[in-house]
Amino acid sequence: MRFVSRWGIICLLVILGQVQPTARGSSSPSVLEAPTRAAGPGDQSPPAANLANFPGAERCKERPVDVTASSSDEHRLACSAANDALQLLGRCNITLRRPLHVQIMSEVRHPFSGPIFGLFDTKQDRVLVTQEANIPALVEGTPYAALPQRDFYRSLIVHEVIHGAMHQNLKRPAASHAAYEYPAYALQIESLAPNVREDFLRSFDQTALKAQSTLFNDPVLFFDPYFFAARAYHHFKASADGCAHLTALLEGEVAFIAPPLM
Ligand SMILES: [Zn+2]
Repeated sequence: MRFVSRWGIICLLVILGQVQPTARGSSSPSVLEAPTRAAGPGDQSPPAANLANFPGAERCKERPVDVTASSSDEHRLACSAANDALQLLGRCNITLRRPLHVQIMSEVRHPFSGPIFGLFDTKQDRVLVTQEANIPALVEGTPYAALPQRDFYRSLIVHEVIHGAMHQNLKRPAASHAAYEYPAYALQIESLAPNVREDFLRSFDQTALKAQSTLFNDPVLFFDPYFFAARAYHHFKASADGCAHLTALLEGEVAFIAPPLM
């Protein structure tokens, strides 16, 4: 229960801080996972990340992804996970439009609370991810704690890179956080090895997980992001054309995501 109350506090702060109306009546967070300000459609494409902006960054061999990391192992892992993420999106013909920067940091902090796994900063077009050594303290008390640490950590990088690539292709800002998080969570869970993924999915009520009637919404995302993640994966894979969901999300709202409460 400890993590539920902690997430409750975080989520209330996110709701209050992140969803702000713009002049056009829509909203788009500048940071996914952690809020700073709202952005209108006109300023949703920040300058491309490049090596000059991020000293110490090294380009991955496989993709136009620049990684700042403290060791070659860390760099390799981030590149490998980013490659996985972009392969998954590539199946849906969604690709990077400009280089993406991934920064591995000893700690990533939510602007309104404590340390978090990571975030995507839309303003600077960069992914920030907490160093693997500091992940155990963050997963404690969550369903992720039961997963092999390296597997979960890779999937965490996948999640944030999906945010980055989706953002570069976004045609219209979404009104809900659920719309931003659905692709990131669905593909994060898909990136897990099958046995690890099954262990994660088995930790939830199977009837609720597979329910067809429930919309994806912000309250579930904020108060039980793990269940949201499992449901997003199940919904994505059970769909006849999961890629169509991702493409539709880039265009705007979709029927399976509930409108925001405020
Ligand atoms: Zn996310």
